[in-house]
Amino acid sequence: MRILVTGGAGFIGSHYVRQALGGAYPAYADAEIVVLDLLTYAGSLANLAPVADLPSYRFVHGDIRDPALVDRWMSGADVVLHFAAESHVDRSITGAADFVSTNVGGTQLLLQAALEHGVGKFVHVSTDEVYGSIEHGSWAEEHPLEPNSPYSAAKAGSDLIARAYHRTHGLPVCITRCSNNYGPYQFPEKVIPLFLTNLIDGRKVPLYGDGLNVRDWLHVDDHCRGIQLVAEHGRPGETYNIGGGTELSNRELTGLLLEATGNDWSMVEPVTDRKGHDRRYSVDITKIQNELGYAPRMAFTEGIAQTVSWYQQRRDWWEPLRAQAAPHR
Ligand code: NAD
Repeated sequence: MRILVTGGAGFIGSHYVRQALGGAYPAYADAEIVVLDLLTYAGSLANLAPVADLPSYRFVHGDIRDPALVDRWMSGADVVLHFAAESHVDRSITGAADFVSTNVGGTQLLLQAALEHGVGKFVHVSTDEVYGSIEHGSWAEEHPLEPNSPYSAAKAGSDLIARAYHRTHGLPVCITRCSNNYGPYQFPEKVIPLFLTNLIDGRKVPLYGDGLNVRDWLHVDDHCRGIQLVAEHGRPGETYNIGGGTELSNRELTGLLLEATGNDWSMVEPVTDRKGHDRRYSVDITKIQNELGYAPRMAFTEGIAQTVSWYQQRRDWWEPLRAQAAPHR
């Protein structure tokens, strides 16, 4: 069995690959895993170093927008797990072109190749941000897509193309929409690793606006277990929300990170709010719980303590990357 993992050198994809090759998903214990990744600023072979010598792992350096390359590696793939994307909202505000070409165009190219090669399952990894912003309650999967940033709009576009390849051609596609992830190997431009690496270095952290924007934080391992359940048992054509972490305002999150690193509020610098900043995200995960038996396992207090300790110990990993983080940070 061969699994093609796009974007497997990024934060979540590399966690999936390390887990899969480490035996965490018994159904794929004997699978060959091929990672196809462009190694943009967000992708790094250092994320895959723990599995680099395993015979069932292969890395292919390339672009999901390259038809010949995609055709070459789709051939022989039984399952596609599609993580590759431009993923940082702030970057999509300063320049959206790569977001549209990779997230929408790249996804379409993969879907077409998967159709031509008769792939058995295509899991399109998406985000709860496609639903927009919600003041009260939580989104179920049938909620309309009302994305607000160029990032989430491009992801919503890719979700619709993925859905269309199922409805039109019967391609066995599943879509997952997950809440905010945290954990080791997250590029130090996203809020948790940005704040941690700043605080470890004695630098202030930039808190957007009034700090009352709310996110549901899920450990990356819980996300990847949800993706695995969908890959194995998800019904073709269906969308599954993944979440069930801990809802926190950015102020609350900041307070926890200050405490965990032995700092106080003097280390916080309020900055002008992000343009179009969504106020609150919240997914309803009843469907994946009832249909596939999903439940998050990692308590936030434990997950964040492990994450803090990982960033404290892995300066060798994050220091070279921080120079490439979004320029205004
Ligand atoms: P990431 O930015 O850390 O990694 C993205 C990876 O895709 C990188 O390795 C990059 O090199 C690769 N890539 C980018 N463009 C490519 C291209 N044209 N061809 C081949 N590879 C390319 O992102 P992440 O945080 O790991 O997110 C992975 C997926 O999960 C994304 O689709 C994202 O939308 C989704 N998601 C992320 C979160 C989150 O909190 N990070 C939450 C829900 C969903």
